[in-house]
Amino acid sequence: MATTKQTTRTKTVLPAVKSGQKKTVKSTTAKNVRLTNTTWAYAAAPESADHISIKEQYDLFINGKFVKPSSKKYFATVSPSTEKKISEVAEANEKDIDLAVKSAKAAYDTTWGKMPGKERAKYIYRIARLMQERAREFAVIESMDGGKPIRESRDIDIPLACNHFFYYAGWADKLEYAFPNRHPKPLGVAGQIIPWNFPLLMAAWKIAPALATGNTVVLKPAETTPLTALKLAEIIQESGLPDGVVNIVTGFGNVGAAIVNHPLVNKVAFTGSTPVGKYIQKAIAGTNKKATLELGGKAAHIIFDDAPIDQAVEGIVNGIFFNQGHVCCAGSRLFVQENIAELVIKKLKRRMETLLVGDPLDKNTDIGAINSKEQLAKIKHYLNLGQKEGAEMYQSNCALPSKGYFCKPTIFLHTSQSHRIVQEEIFGPVLAIQTFRTIEEVIEKANNIPYGLSAGVWTDKGSKIFNLTSKLRAGVVWANTYNKFDPTSPFGGYKESGFGREGGIHGLMGYVTL
Ligand code: NAP
Ligand code: MG
Repeated sequence: MATTKQTTRTKTVLPAVKSGQKKTVKSTTAKNVRLTNTTWAYAAAPESADHISIKEQYDLFINGKFVKPSSKKYFATVSPSTEKKISEVAEANEKDIDLAVKSAKAAYDTTWGKMPGKERAKYIYRIARLMQERAREFAVIESMDGGKPIRESRDIDIPLACNHFFYYAGWADKLEYAFPNRHPKPLGVAGQIIPWNFPLLMAAWKIAPALATGNTVVLKPAETTPLTALKLAEIIQESGLPDGVVNIVTGFGNVGAAIVNHPLVNKVAFTGSTPVGKYIQKAIAGTNKKATLELGGKAAHIIFDDAPIDQAVEGIVNGIFFNQGHVCCAGSRLFVQENIAELVIKKLKRRMETLLVGDPLDKNTDIGAINSKEQLAKIKHYLNLGQKEGAEMYQSNCALPSKGYFCKPTIFLHTSQSHRIVQEEIFGPVLAIQTFRTIEEVIEKANNIPYGLSAGVWTDKGSKIFNLTSKLRAGVVWANTYNKFDPTSPFGGYKESGFGREGGIHGLMGYVTL
């Protein structure tokens, strides 16, 4: 399969800098490590792709079988780091969606909707275990298809996806404890549409609670990252899940729209952009369909002067450069208290110089490939716009691979609330930085945005954390950490970031009537 070119990469090594201290770097030579005055060399450490199997062509997964699309059309899925085709997947149309939804409805009526929770749980556990057994394969395919560093797909996406199945398997026979003195009933067929930033994890967020509560599913992955969902279909087949309980259909936006508009769909679970979320809300208005919408974000990441600065800088890096900034809850607006701004920015710039951008399959890589050519063009548009708006752009000096879609980690200084780079979701490794003096000011600025998905606070004072968490209009607020996820915690937004919660006991609510 994929071959990775052996290259030698350099990583800048910098000493800890105290405020006001001159930057001097001593040259030392250790065994096996070439240490020059600013850099040492890392040999590439590519994850092997020999153990994975990707078919040349994938069909639609409907009623427990892989079936040809009625259009007979297929489209390519490419690796954003090599620009090469990996495989081709079926392009569904309305006829296929009708078949998938009817299969899900039949499975709901005849088997899954009637099955006792403890029996459903066994299937969900089995899916979790099979995923876990093939975790390495999933991680490699996720990085190849979507561009994220193997370190993230291996340590975050895949384990979390498995854990969602394990967690919700545990709820399947305990729904009366989740909803005491109520009688939770499944809704029927759930139409689920997911984006490209966490392909397998988003599929797990959607499928696991739906199955635990007795619903059946038609899921559509994003057009640029369909492969791990199709591998999941193979696992579902292997698990012996009754035919039609989960159907996975690939295609473009019109496929998503066909699912949303199908009269036999009882629930729409969507994660994606705010414009498509608004379209879905209009489409289902006046119907009995339930919906949960997880949409865009523009999180405020707030650093107070009593924060542990070095940890906070790591938090900032993790908040915006993690997964190339392709994170709905990315800490894309940084608010630093004025008296420490200079120091924080200095340390941040130094840390940015150490980030390695490149081959997603290399275990050294910090920042992988931007998911698609279109997304890279969108990010570049915002980089130009930010400069035109008068902000000062700083990018790390790292080299970018000559092939593939890559973007240097970028920060904008001297931004203001009215700048579009501050107000709009960029969905790339781009951070807009502002300063503040008082708590009231930062709350006002943080909330002055159409989104309300997440926020982060760094301070030594618990009272400040509690004060802010009650006043920030964000579904998730992290304190002295960032981008931490857990299947037991609910996740979701306020305002234009959507409604409904996924994860935790709250994640069951969107799939039942009480
Ligand atoms: P997107 O363009 O809205 O696409 C999301 C999904 O919807 C894709 O599968 C897409 O299919 C499908 N779709 C497109 N048009 C549709 C329509 N008219 N009806 C139904 N489905 C349709 O979003 P994206 O660019 O893939 O993902 C990035 C966005 O997702 C960002 O805004 C991000 O903040 C958000 N996001 C939110 C969360 C959260 O939990 N709040 C999590 C992750 C991402 P195609 O791929 O074929 O176009
Ligand atoms: Mg792809």
